[in-house]
Amino acid sequence: MQVLTWPNPLLSLTAKPVTDEERGTAAFQSSIDEMIAIVKANEAVGLAATQVGWDRRVFVMKSMNGEPWEHINPRLLHADEPKLAQEGCLSFPGVQPEYLEAPSRVVLGSTDLLGRTKEFFLYDLFARCAFHEIKHLDGITMLDRMGKLQRRLFLKAYMRARR
Ligand SMILES: [Zn+2]
Repeated sequence: MQVLTWPNPLLSLTAKPVTDEERGTAAFQSSIDEMIAIVKANEAVGLAATQVGWDRRVFVMKSMNGEPWEHINPRLLHADEPKLAQEGCLSFPGVQPEYLEAPSRVVLGSTDLLGRTKEFFLYDLFARCAFHEIKHLDGITMLDRMGKLQRRLFLKAYMRARR
């Protein structure tokens, strides 16, 4: 498992929901473990399955106490007004975090490995991360959330960093 970087076309695919049969398999669990290992190794906040070419609605993030936390079939049940703050992405390595609009408070609904549905009230970094990762699962990268000029400047910096 490897982190795909932009412009890999797989980053634009919409991920499929996880079924109950699939959820209980060893292969499913080990894919999640691999994603958690990537988050830890990169000291990242979160990672979406689409970023590793896994076509499923799954993301992992660091929890408030730093423990790895998987979210299966996640949905935003509520999001407050967007605010500007800095955001980075493992699929755009080598560039500075970029100012983007995202909600600073969300209610995240997701299921766990046993299929139990839960709701979480997330703030600030964690709200932004959940928003960012769910966008990934719909094939939307941070680049797609930028205006024209910001996009142009960001791409310029990104291409320079990749040379
Ligand atoms: Zn990302």
